[in-house]
Amino acid sequence: MKLDIISIIKNIGASIRFDITDRLDVLDSGIGTVEFTGPVTVKGTATSFNRMIEVKGEAQVSYRTFCDRCGEALERSLTVPFNENIIERDEDDQDTAMEDDDRFTFTGHYIDLGRIAADAILLNLPMQHLCSEDCRGLCSSCGNKISGSGCDCEESQVTDPRLESLKGYFKNK
Ligand SMILES: [Zn+2]
Ligand SMILES: [Zn+2]
Repeated sequence: MKLDIISIIKNIGASIRFDITDRLDVLDSGIGTVEFTGPVTVKGTATSFNRMIEVKGEAQVSYRTFCDRCGEALERSLTVPFNENIIERDEDDQDTAMEDDDRFTFTGHYIDLGRIAADAILLNLPMQHLCSEDCRGLCSSCGNKISGSGCDCEESQVTDPRLESLKGYFKNK
């Protein structure tokens, strides 16, 4: 996902807009239970400074995962902002300390928006996924999902897992 910045690179203060949709190989393997299902859309502006390009915008991707509590399949979409300064690196600078540097760099007149987008997405992916805020997980008696249409078990049989150990305690008395 390369952005050609030749039209602004020698023109400090100039900017171009971009709106690119493309697959990113780096996201193909997914992460944890998250499977990216579509291409990534990257929208924003690139502005030229002295040997630096400021890239600002947002990346959007959809993915499939599962509810952490009840295991229901979920389809989600994620939009994350990014704002990066991409430093121009000389072609013959390859073997210098820049290698260990975490900053984004570019040589020539292309910027790799894919790397910026993938970084922003992986950094901002939620740690937890729930089908709904109040998902109560699965019934410990029948294994069905408790929230929504629910299960047929008596309400009294449905215990909060946090109270389960306490219940055992009283039973054994
Ligand atoms: Zn759930
Ligand atoms: Zn049940």
